[in-house]
Amino acid sequence: MRVVSVYIEHPVMLLNSPFHYLLQGEDYLARGMRVKVDFNGRPLVGFVDGVEEVEDIDAYQKTLDYQLKEIQEIIDKEPLLNDELYELGLWMSYQTVSPAISCFQAMLPAALKPSSSHKPAARERWVVIDDEELKREFETKEALLKDFMQKCSVYRYTKYRKAGLLHTEDRQKQAESGQLRISQAPYELTEKQQKALDDIETSDRNVVLLHGLTGSGKTEIYMQLAQKVLEEGRQVLILVPEISLTSMMIERFRSRFGDSIAVYHSGLSNTEKYQQHQLVRHNRASLVVGTRSAVFMPFADLGLIVLDEEHDNSYKQDSTPRYHTRDIAIKRAEYHHCKVILGSATPALESYARAIRNVYQLITLDERIFQKLPVSHLVDMNRETRQGNFIISKPLAEAIGKRLENNQQVILLLNRRGYTPIMKCGSCGEVLTCPHCDVTLSYHKDEDKLVCHCCGYTTSADVSCPKCGSRKWRNYGIGTQRLVEETGRLYPKARIVRMDADSTAKKDSHRDILEAFRRHEYDILVGTQMIAKGLDFPDVTLVGVFNADGPLNRMDYRSVEMTFDLIVQASGRSGRKDVEGEVYVQAYDISHYGIRLAVRQNYIAFFNNEMQYRHSGFYPPYSYMIALMFAGKDPQLLEDAAFSAAEHFRLDEKLRTLGPSKLLKRKDEYRYRLVLKSTDKAYMLQQLWQWYDAQKYNRHQVAIQVDVDPCILD
Ligand code: ADP
Ligand code: ZN
Ligand code: ZN
Repeated sequence: MRVVSVYIEHPVMLLNSPFHYLLQGEDYLARGMRVKVDFNGRPLVGFVDGVEEVEDIDAYQKTLDYQLKEIQEIIDKEPLLNDELYELGLWMSYQTVSPAISCFQAMLPAALKPSSSHKPAARERWVVIDDEELKREFETKEALLKDFMQKCSVYRYTKYRKAGLLHTEDRQKQAESGQLRISQAPYELTEKQQKALDDIETSDRNVVLLHGLTGSGKTEIYMQLAQKVLEEGRQVLILVPEISLTSMMIERFRSRFGDSIAVYHSGLSNTEKYQQHQLVRHNRASLVVGTRSAVFMPFADLGLIVLDEEHDNSYKQDSTPRYHTRDIAIKRAEYHHCKVILGSATPALESYARAIRNVYQLITLDERIFQKLPVSHLVDMNRETRQGNFIISKPLAEAIGKRLENNQQVILLLNRRGYTPIMKCGSCGEVLTCPHCDVTLSYHKDEDKLVCHCCGYTTSADVSCPKCGSRKWRNYGIGTQRLVEETGRLYPKARIVRMDADSTAKKDSHRDILEAFRRHEYDILVGTQMIAKGLDFPDVTLVGVFNADGPLNRMDYRSVEMTFDLIVQASGRSGRKDVEGEVYVQAYDISHYGIRLAVRQNYIAFFNNEMQYRHSGFYPPYSYMIALMFAGKDPQLLEDAAFSAAEHFRLDEKLRTLGPSKLLKRKDEYRYRLVLKSTDKAYMLQQLWQWYDAQKYNRHQVAIQVDVDPCILD
């Protein structure tokens, strides 16, 4: 009889090792397939880790402390994860200290996830032509029934079928895939681009860091590299950090490579994701453009991976398993013996540090294709507010006016949605906060609602003060809605469009807004950080960055890096084509090196400054870090859990243990965090696993979240 080891997701406990089940009969079952099993009377879907033939079941049973039960049902006909991906899942599980089952789940589209109920996919009818002569006549050996019927009468079809020249099959519906059709690049590479391309191709390093100014032609290099790989018949993966950037990237790749592109991002429905997944799985798409989870697509023969804007935090998954897309990309490239290009104008400090140590190949593009970098101005908002300019400073306001007169476009970046972030009682000073989080409620004027940006809680803005009963409110701070209002007041003729999480909630609205802006149906685009990156609009000649030093107030060791990145990326949207661009950066703390160097776009000086700070604080890249979060509803239980973990790790002199510190309440959950640091990551992982496997908490009471190499510690 066969014994099957199965990974399951336990509803209460943290379990990392597989459980064993019996399999009677001859049915095919292999690693990477899903099965239904019974676990303590609960029906669960599990993931098969291995199948072995066992002669003496009784002896086998004695080695276990639970009763062997039979597999109830085999769900799949073939493995959902091939060997490469299965091994990758186990590796990811170890590296991120998360249950293997959570990794397999993260790698598959929702429709195939081991824990979800198994719904059959949509089906369609195919005509398969068996006769050689007929195949030649139709120039294909199969076609969708409806397509076939268009070319052929019902009479002929029936005749052929009866003669056995063709038959029909019921198949899972798949997304359309087009032909790979490579059109020539509209121009020749510049000398610098050509040198960069040659250096990438001849480098003996598998990972290349392409450090290039915004607008220096990195994307063009990706496309030319991709072209060679596609012509060799291999596959290409292009990763972008955010869904708002996929449409631009897709458009550029589609105009060069035709429609044989699969697209994979969070804006797709489950069915669409499943279809795109199948396209790659059946080798019907050779180029994939997508966000984070596209890194798990089932490629057979990958020839190139590009991670554009490689420094971006969206590449890090913010729920278990907390993997970084860059790590996964590099791991997959090792398996496929292909190159990974990490592209950015502001590489992550870790990446740049690796590149100058020659772990990665460093390639630099230090000139823009068309214009010089835009002229940047730093505006002191302390002075401006004294003069009564609270939102838009005088120099920026004048600059906007000029650009509008010349029929050019303007981008205004403010990384806060809503109308105002703070509502304060006009009589007693009470601030309205979310009942579920330690966070102030933002006023949204469009909907006349108060909204919690942390948990989404929404309530009417027509309220009286809970403390004194007054109905007089003062609004503090600015959000995108208020900025649009103010801009409209100053420039009544300007056509203004807003892009933030509220205005893009609907499917495809990202693309619609950006395309309308590209067609110059709007003069001013106001938005949050989603408009800071990657966009390439020739008519944009002015960018304004509001509250640029805001992120410096975060307690995070990376807050300076994030501030720097945002300013540089946003500035990069200006003056990309024929007219010289300009940038205004509004800030209060104008002497900070992060702000000053960002305005000068001096990455190297910033890198050197910031590395000193990281060195003195023993922060990454000088150390490795793991954050442990304890979250739950019972504050006492959490405090005990966090402090006992801290005691445990403090005994280890090879680790530096910080905390635990109490964090702000979120979604009715109390949170404690512990941070471990060490120069030896392997050792730290080993210690962490030992501790983790011994934890017996009910995960509904104490949720333990492990974050290896955390990007954001807020
Ligand atoms: P990046 O990705 O570094 O921001 P892009 O590849 O988007 O830069 O290039 C900036 C602009 O220059 C784009 O509009 C692109 O089409 C154009 N471009 C890139 N390379 C060339 C070239 N060799 N000749 C002419 N135009 C180019
Ligand atoms: Zn009050
Ligand atoms: Zn809330």
